[in-house]
Amino acid sequence: MRIESAVPSEHKNRLIHTVYGWYALTREQTDLGPFDSPNEASYALSRHIRMHKGLNQRPLGRPQQMHLHDPDQCTKNNCGLCVEARVFRHSLAVAVS
Ligand SMILES: [Zn+2]
Repeated sequence: MRIESAVPSEHKNRLIHTVYGWYALTREQTDLGPFDSPNEASYALSRHIRMHKGLNQRPLGRPQQMHLHDPDQCTKNNCGLCVEARVFRHSLAVAVS
């Protein structure tokens, strides 16, 4: 997965690529996406961070939760990690059948 250089480095661990497109992960109830390109996801994330600045004091960044994320426990409305986890489960199911 290659992310174009127009995407600021602090966004790179918050963008994920799924078969549906690119998602920008947020700390809020709704992730952003899917988008056609990482640049669009990054742009949406920049706008999102500006809108939420000051509302949320937790530090920037987010630990990688890939493959640990549980869609059954997740309370987000539009979750990029859930999309990724579902696709991953599906690809495992296809692989064993
Ligand atoms: Zn989720």
